[in-house]
Amino acid sequence: AKVTRLAPSPTGFIHLGNLYGAFVDERLAHQSEGVFLLRIEDTDDKRKVEGAERIIISSLEYFDVKFDEGASMDGEIGNYGPYFQSNRGEIYQTVAKYLVEMGRAYPCFCTEEELGEIRKEQVAANINTGYYGKWAKDRDLSLEDVQKRLKNNQSFVIRLKSLGNQEETFEIDDAIRGRLTLPVNDQDVVILKGNGIPTYHFAHVVDDHLMRVTHVVRGEEWLSTLPIHYELFHTLGWALPVYCHTAHLMKIDNGVKRKLSKRKDPELGLEYYMKLGYHPAAVREYLLTILNSNFEEWRIENPDSSTDDFPFTLNKMSNSGALFDLDKLNDISKNVLAKIPAEKIYHFLLKWAKRYGREMVHPLMDDKNAVVKLLSIGRDSPQPRKDLIYCEQIMEFISYFFDDYFQVVDPYPENIEDAEAKKLLKAYIETYQHSDDQGQWFDKIRVIATENGYAAKPKDLKKNPGMYKGHVGDVSTVVRIALVGRSSSPELWEIQQIMGEEKVRKRIQSRIQ
Ligand code: GLU
Repeated sequence: AKVTRLAPSPTGFIHLGNLYGAFVDERLAHQSEGVFLLRIEDTDDKRKVEGAERIIISSLEYFDVKFDEGASMDGEIGNYGPYFQSNRGEIYQTVAKYLVEMGRAYPCFCTEEELGEIRKEQVAANINTGYYGKWAKDRDLSLEDVQKRLKNNQSFVIRLKSLGNQEETFEIDDAIRGRLTLPVNDQDVVILKGNGIPTYHFAHVVDDHLMRVTHVVRGEEWLSTLPIHYELFHTLGWALPVYCHTAHLMKIDNGVKRKLSKRKDPELGLEYYMKLGYHPAAVREYLLTILNSNFEEWRIENPDSSTDDFPFTLNKMSNSGALFDLDKLNDISKNVLAKIPAEKIYHFLLKWAKRYGREMVHPLMDDKNAVVKLLSIGRDSPQPRKDLIYCEQIMEFISYFFDDYFQVVDPYPENIEDAEAKKLLKAYIETYQHSDDQGQWFDKIRVIATENGYAAKPKDLKKNPGMYKGHVGDVSTVVRIALVGRSSSPELWEIQQIMGEEKVRKRIQSRIQ
């Protein structure tokens, strides 16, 4: 059984990279009947944003990320906590003390100025070796010396006493990248800062060990510091977890492939998808598509299976940067929503509306019956309509039904003047019988078309363009625009059935006057 963790920092920005990692973690843990836990890395006071933990937890909940253990809306769950790093101070201090006792860590009293001096000397000597070996001033202070400085209240940090040699390398297997050869760490990195707070490196090693994490899935930006973690694990005599460094999410921008950026790409933040109301199943489906190269193939063979059944494997993950594309996400979302029953979509809309209440949302949602029927049109067929993408768009998509939101968005077809449209609509309403079935209804449209000089079929118009004003499709488009305000919509006959006779007549009349 694998134990994985998501370890976001509460900076107020939770992004696709977090979610992408979370899906990997979740699959690894749950496929092996293991445990997936949530740890909040809230040690960096400067970057901490009030309430950010709740944003993280509720965002992950929105996307249906299933944790077994750790921080949650109802406090902490599990026996390996605390799961907030800010509550683990004593644990870090105990381990740091142990390292000091072993002679593998030491207090360093260097001030910023002194560190600056060391750097200057190194620059002058044209070397860039960092804080290690002979450059590490406080490495071999005597006990008396340390005690004296402590008495003087001199502030200090705790550094690892690295035994690494910068000329050497070591090998490590990354579950995504394969075998890596990396330089051995030789830096006396800080493990506890002046205020007693651990650095990422130290907290990662201590927490992942004590929380019995077997697989560390994290972004490739951490690869360069892996040698530090490797040395820390070895120094403490703890087994290394399996590392899985995921590639950055990329996008094509003006023909150039680049990393998604917080500053330039609003679609990097999860907030973007929640505000628009993307369905979690759609986002998951899409992320799995770019995450695992064999997902699409599996999906074709298993069109109706839950993504939970997808046999996820780390070796099918991209290590050169997964390409993220909103248009593809939208396409996938259309497919995913086409398979979700209308009633369920209604409930999803309702939940979203409550959370992100758009001005137009509530009155629309009051008429559950109508909304479910509108969303059902064309769904119950082997080739269901695929026109729903996300809540905001769905609300817009069905808004025509409600008088308060009805708007004429599209003009009549080019070949039809206003007076001509009125003539056609008059003919329409004169013969309109609400009880006509779909066949009878369309026969009447055909009659109106031929009586008014429109070809019964588009191909007749093509053969003899001079003979006709247009074809039957133009006539139904005129009716459609009068009824729904746009030139394309689901089946008009069905919409009319849901609208009821009175509304149909009223809308047509209002275009005739
Ligand atoms: N707190 C780190 C981050 O948000 C976690 C990295 C990791 O998963 O180890 O980037």
